[in-house]
Amino acid sequence: MRPLLLAPLRLATLLAATSLCLLACTSPPPQPEGASGWVHKPGWATHTYAVAAANPLATQAGQQMLQKGGSAVDAAIAVQMVLALVEPQSSGLGGGAFLLHFDGHRTQAFDGRESAPSGATPGLFLGPNGKPMAFNDAVVGGRSVGVPGTLRMLALAHRQHGRLPWSALFEPAIRLATMGFAISPRMATLLADEPALKADPVAAAYFFNPHGQPWPAGHVLRNPELAAVLTDIAQRGPDALMTGAVARSITSAVQHHSSNPGTLSEHDLATYSAVVREPLCFDYHAPIEQRDYRLCGMPPPSSGAIAIGQILGLLNHTPAATLPLQSGLPSGDWLHFYTEASRLAFADRAQFVADPDFVQPPAGDWNSLLDPNYLAERAGRIDNSPAAKAMPFAPAGQPGGLSVGYAPMPDQVEHGTSHISVVDAYGNALAMTTTIEGGWGAHLMVNRGQGLVGGFLLNNELTDFSFQPFDASGKPIANRVEPGKRPRSSMSPTLVFDKATGQLLASTGSPGGAFIIHFTAKTLVGMLNWGLNAQQAINLPNFGTLGGPLMLEDSRFAPATVLALQARGHTVVQAPLPSGLQAIERTETGYFGGADPRREGVVLGD
Ligand code: GLU
Repeated sequence: MRPLLLAPLRLATLLAATSLCLLACTSPPPQPEGASGWVHKPGWATHTYAVAAANPLATQAGQQMLQKGGSAVDAAIAVQMVLALVEPQSSGLGGGAFLLHFDGHRTQAFDGRESAPSGATPGLFLGPNGKPMAFNDAVVGGRSVGVPGTLRMLALAHRQHGRLPWSALFEPAIRLATMGFAISPRMATLLADEPALKADPVAAAYFFNPHGQPWPAGHVLRNPELAAVLTDIAQRGPDALMTGAVARSITSAVQHHSSNPGTLSEHDLATYSAVVREPLCFDYHAPIEQRDYRLCGMPPPSSGAIAIGQILGLLNHTPAATLPLQSGLPSGDWLHFYTEASRLAFADRAQFVADPDFVQPPAGDWNSLLDPNYLAERAGRIDNSPAAKAMPFAPAGQPGGLSVGYAPMPDQVEHGTSHISVVDAYGNALAMTTTIEGGWGAHLMVNRGQGLVGGFLLNNELTDFSFQPFDASGKPIANRVEPGKRPRSSMSPTLVFDKATGQLLASTGSPGGAFIIHFTAKTLVGMLNWGLNAQQAINLPNFGTLGGPLMLEDSRFAPATVLALQARGHTVVQAPLPSGLQAIERTETGYFGGADPRREGVVLGD
């Protein structure tokens, strides 16, 4: 990590640049949470603390908490509440989240993942013919809604690490919801592409004008219903969401959906608990920078840290380990080996990873999947010769020497979400990735019916389960739907430490469905092995594979690179791949933060 200490760009300048470019430079968004253009970000240097989030108003709310003497968790809560208002397509009260927290001594993994209702069955996403439903048919409505976990998770983290009173953390969001906020260009772009949202009467009355047109960028939108719900939560805590009138409105929206109802009950909401898990940590030697790190991420139900740890570990067994960037970009040779490592990692992910309360880890320990001996053996499948071709098939391994009785889960679409990174003045740091799953979640907006406009959106997180519960031979898939179970995730909030001293060096993460793993891995390799600062690492083009074709970010790689990869036998597809990375790294003078130019985030601090 060699940060360039650039002067912080003024927020107003960035906002002006954002609106200009996002309106003019948009390409059609084929991804579920679409692309909305590229806005140059300078990176931001700070001294004492820093907060990075996907929307400037949310980042400002976090900064206000830090200025008042709040902790990283205080800031993250204020950020999340504003994101629920200004970036409702990605996260909020109706969703789930993972928060990785370091308090200067100990790292904890807070799990606020949604869980399946007690009425859910393994066949939840099978059609009448016994075949998996079309993905989009499953998403919209009550069927896909899991028990929201974000708020209980934040309350749990606040009890342990908060410094400001709980109620103070809601002030910025309540103020903005009451006074109104200007719809951002990204939100407007995504709204314009969302006919299904209009079918929900609550969402239609809020996001669309009386003629049925989506409100444009710059329109000042007020959400008095959300302001009222947040005011109640500020006073009474998560019970104000998970019990009583709001809980009744949530279950009514789910159970009485006209075409696609679900079973989520008041009992499911009242009994949901967030949990603190042991983080999954692994060593990473950066072969070019010649430095040793320890990286910590979320354990299952997220597959993020396992997949990232496997990819980085496997890469170090290939010639890619010491390959530098070529003209500032990953070379064809590097991408080839990265793809091979990823295919092996995704094969293990499909085979093994699911809610740890429901499935046993291989060899009794999730660390078996990151064991250096296991990775060395897995790396033996990659041909390291100069003209090596893509391996024809990447099977799952046998960590701990054991075979497991699960069938691999077929690929499924995953997209949506937001990432927050914070470091405070007290030595705490966090990485939090927060989601309602797809863009606009289940397209269901909750409102208590008391005459106030607006509300909050419900997640479609249950579509992160395998639609198919068993394979053709009847073998169960680890990530099948079961009552009370948390769906497998790809969210990868990551904290980086110096291996020798344990000093916190960086916090990062991203939205992007299963590609979160690649977006985050790219940023880590960029910062830790290629010597880029956080902003430069985020800016690198996106790439990755879920096991099938190699996806490359549109128009970012030279045709010669694409041809070289095709010559090695890879099927290459170029697509937008809109990440939403944020990263904060330690520097000699404080911190340096980066925000994804593909989204609207900024970093603020002091
Ligand atoms: N639901 C996905 C997960 O938990 C995240 C969706 C996204 O980031 O786009 O892995």
